[in-house]
Amino acid sequence: MRKIETTCIQGGYTPKNGEPRQIPIIQSTTFKYDSSEAMAKLFDLEESGYFYTRLQNPTNDYVAKKLAELEGGTAGMLTSSGQAANFYAVFNIASCGDHIVASSTIYGGTYNLFAVTMKRMGIEFTFVSPNCSDEELNNAFKPNTKAVFGETIANPAVIVFDIERFAKAAHAHGVPLIIDNTFATPINCRPFEWGADIVTHSTTKYLDGHGATVGGAIIDSGKFDWTKYPDKFPGLCYPDESYHGVVYTEKFGLAGAFITKATAQLMRDFGSIQSPQNAFILNLGIESLAVRMERHCYNAQKMAEFLNDHPAVEWVTYCGLKDDKCYRLGQKYLKNGSCGVLSFGVKGGRKTAEEVMKRFKLIAIETHVADARSCCLHPASATHRQMNDEELAKAGVKPELIRLSMGIENIDDLIADVKNALDAVIK
Ligand SMILES: *Cc1c(COP(=O)(O)O)cnc(C)c1O
Repeated sequence: MRKIETTCIQGGYTPKNGEPRQIPIIQSTTFKYDSSEAMAKLFDLEESGYFYTRLQNPTNDYVAKKLAELEGGTAGMLTSSGQAANFYAVFNIASCGDHIVASSTIYGGTYNLFAVTMKRMGIEFTFVSPNCSDEELNNAFKPNTKAVFGETIANPAVIVFDIERFAKAAHAHGVPLIIDNTFATPINCRPFEWGADIVTHSTTKYLDGHGATVGGAIIDSGKFDWTKYPDKFPGLCYPDESYHGVVYTEKFGLAGAFITKATAQLMRDFGSIQSPQNAFILNLGIESLAVRMERHCYNAQKMAEFLNDHPAVEWVTYCGLKDDKCYRLGQKYLKNGSCGVLSFGVKGGRKTAEEVMKRFKLIAIETHVADARSCCLHPASATHRQMNDEELAKAGVKPELIRLSMGIENIDDLIADVKNALDAVIK
């Protein structure tokens, strides 16, 4: 089997004789057919093909196929954002009256989507700490639980999720594990190898890698056997009346059922499609992903070590540090490095944190993370602003926490920038 660095470049699209070497941007809303019968077959899902870019577009599918290959899955789709990806991944198998178990340390935007917006749709979430006891985890499941959700590396707490443990618990209760693999990327972790069933991405982050496009992706491992629990997953195992009674698991098999349903129903009805232009730009980012991740991780490790030794710093969280509480899990799941994001707290709390950040010159304050340019954020006053102190504590976000996203600049310049700011606040 070819190596992952090669798939970053060559995956998803193989041109035939005389076709473009780079993936073509199919900038077209619609597609032409010779007869109504031919088109009817597409509408009935009798044949695969394209008819309207709100549902599917060839450029997107080349890139989704590459991502599926990178993750080791059977099918994939692009969405307009990471938020849309996580919404679709859950809503594809959960409806009003259902329940989901989710890690409490997930990204603030996802927490809000689950705890507020999807709750209004009648889906209930129980949030558990990623290091909760077995008893607590077991007790979180209900008869109407449809999935477990976690992040490989939590944003912004940078805690490593014990994928294997949560996969076992999910499977023991007959439900899939959905993993948001945004921070690790398939270069550093492939959750399917540890038992996860569905993977999601905010492609806005490392996959694009240049802060150029907002996007998301969903990839299915094809391994979860929905047909073992038809009454729990009726949308996949019983006829879809909106498609003339098609049964997704029968027609598309375990390899294709989940993604086909999400495309045919959710894309059709919600239309959160990624634009083909953005998919093209995303693909350029993915081509250099393996090379960039290596540098992101190298820079983050060096910065974590520097911060750890600085007298103005109270604590540093990065699983590459030997005394980090996630070091052991990091060694298990992220052998080649975790990501370029780390967090630290300065002595003096929230006020000093804000002062230090103001003094950075190279490292910009941004509501962004995981791209080529280094940036930082104070989550308590930005992404996690909606949370009260108790929720912040549960999400692993302290008021003095600064999230630092190491880009791929030269590490000496980045350390000089941080040193300058920290030296200035030492009393
Ligand atoms: C940013 C992010 C999201 C949301 O993605 P968008 O592309 O901004 O919609 C979801 N999960 C994680 C882990 C993220 O970092």
